[in-house]
Amino acid sequence: MKALGLLLFVVVFLARLMPAQGAGAARVAWPKTAEVFQGEIVEIKVSGPDLVAVEGRLGKEKIYFYPNGPGSFSAIVGADVEAKPGAAKLSLKLSGWSRVPQQREIPFKIKAKTFRKESFSVAPGFDRMTPEALEQIRHEREAFARAFAASAPERLWDAPFIRPVPHEASASSFGWRRIINGAPRAPHTGTDLSSPAGTEVVAANHGKVVLVGDFFFAGGSVVLDHGGGLFTMYFLLSDLKVGEGALVQKGDVLALSGATGRVTGAHLHWGARLANARIDPLELLSKVSAADSGREVETITNKTEK
Ligand SMILES: [Zn+2]
Repeated sequence: MKALGLLLFVVVFLARLMPAQGAGAARVAWPKTAEVFQGEIVEIKVSGPDLVAVEGRLGKEKIYFYPNGPGSFSAIVGADVEAKPGAAKLSLKLSGWSRVPQQREIPFKIKAKTFRKESFSVAPGFDRMTPEALEQIRHEREAFARAFAASAPERLWDAPFIRPVPHEASASSFGWRRIINGAPRAPHTGTDLSSPAGTEVVAANHGKVVLVGDFFFAGGSVVLDHGGGLFTMYFLLSDLKVGEGALVQKGDVLALSGATGRVTGAHLHWGARLANARIDPLELLSKVSAADSGREVETITNKTEK
C-alpha cells in the first residue's frame, strides 16, 4: 500500500509538472457551449493548472474574466434585452506560464424571451418636448454614454449582490414592452422595486460613483461602476448622498427613494449594464452566488469571526 501511495504521489506530482512540457492546452476546462436568454446572465468558468489570464470577447465587447482561485477564472456574460436571438461566439484567449496564448471559441446561444406587453394611453402631447427639453435630453444621453465608456479594469465587486431597497417581490418588470397610444416604445430596461418615498437606497455592491444628476426622465440618478464593464443604476431618487468619483461599499446609502423624473408613484428603478448589454439587475442577485468567489468566502469567514 505504501508503495502504491508513493507511486500515486509521483504520478500526481509529474502530472502537475506536465503543463510545462506543452501538454497544458488539453488540460484547460471550459464549457463547450453556453446559452442565455435576452436580458439574463450566465457564468462562464475556465480552469487549468497553469492558467494565468483569460481574455474574452463576445462580438465587439470585451468580456472580463476575474481570477477565482488558483488556475481558475470566471466571467459573467449577459445578453442585451434587445439582443438578436441566435448563435454567437464567445472567444477566449488563454494565457499560461509556459505556452503561447491559445484561442478557444465557445458557441454562445442567445435565446428569445417572452416579455410582458403593456398598452396604455396618455393624453396626446404628453411626450411632445420643447426644444429645450430635447436639448437637455441629448446632453443627458451624452453624460450616460461617457459614464459607460470606461469601466475600471478590475472587478470591484464581491459576491453576493444585495437588494438596494428592502423589497420582497421577486417578479421583475424588466424588459416589459410598452405600447403608448398604439405605438411601441423602448422596452423597460430596469426593474421597478416598490419602495415608499424616503427609503434608503443602498449600493448593491462595491463600486465607484461615475454619474450623479437630476435627469429629465430618470430623475435623481446614481450610476455605479463595479469594474470589468459592470454598472448598476439607481433612478427616481431624492436626497442624493454621494458625489461623482466617490468609492462606495456594498450597503452604503446612495440616496433616498423618491418619485422624481417622469413617474407616477414612488419606487426605485434599478438598472444594470454588463459589457454594454442591458440586463435585469435581479439576475445579479439570483445568479452570482458567494460560492463563486474565493475572495468572498474569506470575507464572510472574517466577518463571522468578529
Ligand atoms: Zn422603471
